[in-house]
Amino acid sequence: MFDMDGVLYDSMPNHAKAWNEAMEHYDMTMTKRDVYLNEGVTGKETISRISMRDRGRPAEPDEIREIYDHKARLFKNLPEVQVMPGALEVFSKVSTLGLDILIVTGSAQKNLIERAQRDFEGYITRESMITAFDVKRGKPHPDPYLKGLEIAGVEASQAVVVENAPMGIRSAVAAGIDTIAVNTGPLEDSLLTVEGSKMLLHSMAALADWLDGQSV
Ligand code: CA
Repeated sequence: MFDMDGVLYDSMPNHAKAWNEAMEHYDMTMTKRDVYLNEGVTGKETISRISMRDRGRPAEPDEIREIYDHKARLFKNLPEVQVMPGALEVFSKVSTLGLDILIVTGSAQKNLIERAQRDFEGYITRESMITAFDVKRGKPHPDPYLKGLEIAGVEASQAVVVENAPMGIRSAVAAGIDTIAVNTGPLEDSLLTVEGSKMLLHSMAALADWLDGQSV
């Protein structure tokens, strides 16, 4: 099971820019580091957290929707994000091993969710994607990955997760699944490993290399 942003797409720099600008517009501050520390958490939860921190009060549901829509528009207007180098090679090798592939993302960014089905055609359909629209409680709760296990029809011990964010790793580990951390962002490796990942690499290309010689 693969996380999407920062694993399959090199989209985090754009998310950081869009969050930064959107929150500033509403008199809150979201630094690049804040974005990476909250990565994987749903937009709704992220806005609530920052509102509590910066304004000492939760954001109202209407306000959350407005801020998230603003952020989503800013994101959409940024230069198109690229598929992460090595991601297709990883999918090809995982598929050759006979494993099913799912995408498990906290994203509600409709354009990217639709694009993933085209960019990873042959590996992914909408049915094999768990998004912010498919679970009530997002990462770092285990729910998205538990839903993934349910859809794949496998036990936690039969699955592996690939994640790039601390909250994502926390979610997968809470679901009882062995997790490979791929640190593609600016956070220290220790912030990922402390969440319980079994191994850590620094790129999807490195994961593709590692998959050579693996068997299931
Ligand atoms: Ca991610």
